[in-house]
Amino acid sequence: MTTATLPQVSTHAPSITHPLGSKARVLLTGVFGPYAQNDAFGSRTMNPMELYHNQVTRVQGPFSLRMFHRSWGIMLIQANIAAPTTLLDFPTLDRFIQQITENHYDIIGITSIIPNIGKVEHMCKLIRQHQPEATIVIGGHLANFGELPERIDADHIVRGDGIRWFRSFLGEPADQPIKHPRILSAFGTRSLGVTLPEKPGDVAATVIPSVGCPVGCNFCSTSAMFGGKGKSVIFFDSGDELFDVMCDLEKSLQVQSFFMMDENFLLHRKRALRLLELMREHNKSWSLYVFTSANVLRSYTTEQLVALGISWVWMGMEGKNSQYAKLSGANTLELVKHLQSHGVRVLGSSIIGLEEHTPENIDDAIDYSVLHDTEFHQFMLYTPIPGTMLWKHHTDNDTLTDPHCLEAADTHGQLKFNYKHPHIPAGAETEMIVRAFTRDFQVNGPSVVRVIRTTLRGYKQYRNHPDARIRRRFEYDARGMATTLAGAVWACRKWFKNDTLLHSKMNAVLQDIYSTFGLKARLAAPLIGRYLFRTLKAERARLAAGWTYEPKTFCEMTHQPAAHTRPAADAPARIAPLATAS
Ligand code: SF4
Repeated sequence: MTTATLPQVSTHAPSITHPLGSKARVLLTGVFGPYAQNDAFGSRTMNPMELYHNQVTRVQGPFSLRMFHRSWGIMLIQANIAAPTTLLDFPTLDRFIQQITENHYDIIGITSIIPNIGKVEHMCKLIRQHQPEATIVIGGHLANFGELPERIDADHIVRGDGIRWFRSFLGEPADQPIKHPRILSAFGTRSLGVTLPEKPGDVAATVIPSVGCPVGCNFCSTSAMFGGKGKSVIFFDSGDELFDVMCDLEKSLQVQSFFMMDENFLLHRKRALRLLELMREHNKSWSLYVFTSANVLRSYTTEQLVALGISWVWMGMEGKNSQYAKLSGANTLELVKHLQSHGVRVLGSSIIGLEEHTPENIDDAIDYSVLHDTEFHQFMLYTPIPGTMLWKHHTDNDTLTDPHCLEAADTHGQLKFNYKHPHIPAGAETEMIVRAFTRDFQVNGPSVVRVIRTTLRGYKQYRNHPDARIRRRFEYDARGMATTLAGAVWACRKWFKNDTLLHSKMNAVLQDIYSTFGLKARLAAPLIGRYLFRTLKAERARLAAGWTYEPKTFCEMTHQPAAHTRPAADAPARIAPLATAS
């Protein structure tokens, strides 16, 4: 591979195969950390490697839900190729250098989102320096950036299905059935200043039935990455296949709940209803956490949703009167209320900066989102991302302010627009999005208490349900309600003792727990609550002192890698950062 040749861009399948086939030694890696700091590679303090703290519970301080999610794409690839493969997740820069200087690899694959382009650029340089013979493959959302071939020194840029691509590149049959890796949905979960223990059964498993979404909203980069409108990549087409995967995860990871990492899980109706049949037949009291669009959700009866174990939904609301087909005719206010009354916790997602938003009407838009009182609310800036129809629209209209993604590290949807908004003056959006999060927190309080409130509602509604399978799920969901969760609400109520609105909301939830669980809860709440109040205060102090949260590094090998024999006399053991940003 020569550095003078531009990388080959391909979708799903390469035009060539690697000469070593399945004997090639593969390293798959995410970009290096630390992530929650400002540096010249594109890390940003405000853009940590935490989905919730980054864009959902951003202003909730010590109440914020903190957790990390693995790089599922490269885990799937590793599980589905025969070549000896090492997977490095969340390495530090030093750890990445150590990996490529002490071991020999024929192929090195890097997955990344667009804001991390600076890291990928640097990793490619390091690979050329330490492993000049290795083939460099780039995947993930970054692959959708049209100018990437000119920006980085790689050999292949892969858009779409990386499993199929890698199998083809290694000369392995691309159409073999997919093996699902055993993935826990999160690690390092922390809130109220306490890191939760990761005992078997406490964490959901991640299931990836399909990727992409055929609905094809104009801004949706995931949909665009896997083909756009009308397209998706289906790994498990039938309810039977999916049920087998879930049974394996249930047994191996000892889980009862599943995070269905599918952009629109319920859209595949036949598969979902067959899964329901099998859950009934085999008496499974599983909980399913799903992404869904409102209209798809409305096409199921409440009985079906409850029986299928739908207990948490992530739903795009986008904005009041937004014109997306997935919302047409849906009254999301009523829908959320209805779901919550059946114990379904909702993460609503709203966009700040839709075409119709102005400085004059943005407060109405924010108030409308807040009115939903969902358990969590994500706010994102309306941001064209390369590969989407929205990006094309702004390119065609010459309204992009950063068409070459030179400021990609700050274009993560939480800071600023990368285009000229028709009504919002440049820079005003930065405060608007914080205003939205703040309003939601001020009116609805900590998400952790909202989750407890709705879980309790579900428990009360279904604890006497005639079907034991359904009763078991709600009992399982409500475990800890009379002790730890009661204590959490007690601590939150004390925290907001001077805030009339939130104090009364916390009090209502606590009284509800007391009346449902009686003396046990009344005794446990203040005992545990006093402890949690102290951990809350300690967390607040930690945050004020600038504490940030970083994921641990994972290194998982399917075979022992070969030692790197090339003399590294020209290779410094450690590469200094390029510079330090603000
Ligand atoms: S419905 Fe959701 S996942 Fe599907 S295209 Fe629209 S935003 Fe993307």
